[in-house]
Amino acid sequence: MAEITNFIKTKMEMDLASGKVSEIVTRFPPEPNAYLHIGHARALVTNFELAKCFNGKTNLRFDDTNPVKEDASFVEAIKNDIKWLGYDPANVFFGSDYFEAQYELAKKLIRKGLAYVCDLSAEEVNKYRGSLSTPGIESPYRNRSVEENLELFENMKNGLYKDGEKTLRAKIDMASPNINMRDPVLYRIIHINHHRQGNKWCIYPMYDFAHPLQDSIEGITHSLCSLEYVDHRPLYDWVVRECEMEHVPEQIEFGRLNIPNTVMSKRYLKALVDSGKVKGYDDPRMPTLAGLRRRGVSPEAIKEFILAAGLSRINSTVDDGMLDHFVREDLKLKVNRIMAVTKPLKVVIDNYPEGKIEYLVASNNQENEALGERKIAFSKYLYIEQDDFCLEKPNRQYKRLALGLEVRLFHAYFIKANDVDYDKDGNIACVHATYDPATLSGSGFNERKPNGTIGFVEATTAKAAKFNKFDVLIIPDEEKDITECVNPNSWEVLDGYVEGANEYKIGNMYQFIRDGYYRVDEDTTDDNLVFNCTVSLKSNFKPN
Ligand code: ATP
Ligand code: MG
Repeated sequence: MAEITNFIKTKMEMDLASGKVSEIVTRFPPEPNAYLHIGHARALVTNFELAKCFNGKTNLRFDDTNPVKEDASFVEAIKNDIKWLGYDPANVFFGSDYFEAQYELAKKLIRKGLAYVCDLSAEEVNKYRGSLSTPGIESPYRNRSVEENLELFENMKNGLYKDGEKTLRAKIDMASPNINMRDPVLYRIIHINHHRQGNKWCIYPMYDFAHPLQDSIEGITHSLCSLEYVDHRPLYDWVVRECEMEHVPEQIEFGRLNIPNTVMSKRYLKALVDSGKVKGYDDPRMPTLAGLRRRGVSPEAIKEFILAAGLSRINSTVDDGMLDHFVREDLKLKVNRIMAVTKPLKVVIDNYPEGKIEYLVASNNQENEALGERKIAFSKYLYIEQDDFCLEKPNRQYKRLALGLEVRLFHAYFIKANDVDYDKDGNIACVHATYDPATLSGSGFNERKPNGTIGFVEATTAKAAKFNKFDVLIIPDEEKDITECVNPNSWEVLDGYVEGANEYKIGNMYQFIRDGYYRVDEDTTDDNLVFNCTVSLKSNFKPN
C-alpha cells in the first residue's frame, strides 16, 4: 500500500517529538443513522492509518446522541463495513455511554455560572442568535440563579417538560463574532426510546457538548473531523477547558472528499433506500461501502484510492474515473481472465465435425503466470459478441469479424465468416464460418494475419448468465427531490454466456477479456448465474 503522508501526520510527529502526547489515539465517530459511504472511507483510512503509523490506536465510537434518526441495524452494518476494510478498532464505544458523566459535567458548568436553562423556543433561540453582521440578543432567562438552574435542569432530566419547552445553554458571549459561541444549546429535551438507553433519558446532549467530552474521556489525542467543524473548534476547546477535563484532545480538520456524479450524503442515500428507488444500501450502484463491495470493489482499491487522493485542509473533488482506475489496478494481476459473451450471436463452424468438443489450454492471466491455466471448450457451435460482427467491413480500423474476413478466436483458431442466416424478423440469427486447423493459438502459425482477435464461448458447454451493467445513479436536478433524480438507465441487464468450466461462486471476481471486471452477485442461485460489472476495461483516467 502507498505510504500515508499529510499535514496531520506531520503534526502528530511534532506532538510526539515535543512530548505534548506520548501516544497517538484517534477515533472514527459515525452517527448510526445510515450506512457508510466512500466519503467516510477518507475519515476511516485517515484515522486508522495515521494511528497505525505510530503504533497508536483508533476507537470506533458511535455518535448516538441524536436518537431520532438512529437505529441498531446501522450499528451492525457500520461495524461490518469497517471490518471489511480491514480495520480493527481498539475499542467500540457509544456516545450514549457517557450520558451520566456528561450530565454531571453540565451541572458543573451550571455551578460555575457557565450554563443556564432557557425557555426560549427553537425559533426564538435562532432569532436571538443574530447574524454574521449583527450581535445576538441575550435570552431573558440568561441570568437565572445557579440554584434555579440546577433545579430546572434536574426537572428537565426527570421528564417534567415537553420536547422543546426548555434547553440548557452555555453562557458564553452573545456578541461573539463566532455564532457558535453565542450561548450554544448544550442539551435538548426529546421524549423517545433510544436504541441503547431505552427511556432512561429524555435530555440529550448536543454534538458540540458531547463530542469534546467523549474525546477527552477516551483519551483521544487528535480528534480528526471534516472542515465544516472549523468554526466549532473554539467551542470544542471551551467545553474541554470549562469542564476542567484532565485530558485535553485537539481537534484537527481536514477537507471532505467529493466525487463528481456521486451523491455522498447519508440523508440522500437514506432517502433513496427508504423510497425503494434503489435495491437497498448494498445496491451496486450506491456509493456506500456495502454497494461498492457488492459491485466488486475491493478494500485495497478503496484504500489506494483514498491515499492517492491525498488529504488537505480544503475540500477536494477528485477525478471521475480515479476510483475505477484503482479498481482496475488492484484486479489486474489478481483475477482470472475468462471469456464471456454479453450479447450473444451464434456461430456455426461448418467444417468442424458435429458432436466433437476439444479442450484448448488457456492461461488464466497472461500477466500473472502464477494463476495457472485452464481448459476452454471449442466445437462446431460457438457464441461471439454481436458487436464483434458486421456484414461488411465498415472501415480500415475495424478489427473484428465480417463476411469474407478472417479473425483469430482467443486461445483458439482463425475462423472466416462466409454467410449468415436470418430469423423471421430479418435479424441475423447465425453466422456460418469455417476454421483453419493449422492456426491453433500457440502453434506458431504466421502465414496470414487475421483481421483482429475476438472472444467466444463454446455453445453447448457454456453457462447462461445475467450481466448487470451500471451507469451513474443520479442525474442531478436541483428542482427535484433526490428520489426523482434516479437515472432510469442506471441498471441494464444483459443475457449471455460464460465459459462452462468454472465454478462461479458468489464473490468470485473475473476479468471478461476485452470487456471489464465482473463479480458473481449474491442473487446467484443454482440455475441463475448473475454477474455485476465492477468496472469496464476502458479508461480515460490519467494518473499523474
Ligand atoms: P453525511 O454528510 O454524508 O451525512 P456525516 O459527516 O454526517 O456524513 P458522520 O456519521 O457524522 O457522517 O461521519 C463520520 C465521519 O466521517 C465524520 O468525521 C465525517 O467528517 C466523516 N466524513 C463523512 N463524509 C465525508 C467525506 N465526504 N469526506 C471526508 N470525511 C467524511
Ligand atoms: Mg455528521
